[in-house]
Amino acid sequence: MHEMSVAISIVDAVCETARKDGALSVSRIELVVGRLAGLQVESLRFCFSSAAKGTLAEDAVLAVEEPEARGECGDCGSRFPVSFFYAECPVCRSLKVRIVSGEEFMIQSIIIEEGE
Ligand SMILES: [Zn+2]
Repeated sequence: MHEMSVAISIVDAVCETARKDGALSVSRIELVVGRLAGLQVESLRFCFSSAAKGTLAEDAVLAVEEPEARGECGDCGSRFPVSFFYAECPVCRSLKVRIVSGEEFMIQSIIIEEGE
């Protein structure tokens, strides 16, 4: 499953950062997952809890922000929200729509519990 490999990379990245900072545990992870990132957030949460078992991130709260995807029309320049890659411009009906946001996926921040 795609979400599982993503969850494992999140846990790896977060734990590496946490270890470098001498953390006892990770308390919160904030992710940004665009609507067109190709990830099922519910599935990602599920995979995360199993990927994080036994790691510093085991008890971390996973906060996920899901920004709306936006497209830009190549003909009239309008910008509008889209829910698919193949979008039609609502203003001029052009199909020359470029996706300008919504594919992003990143770890925005992590909050750690520091050691003594
Ligand atoms: Zn247009």
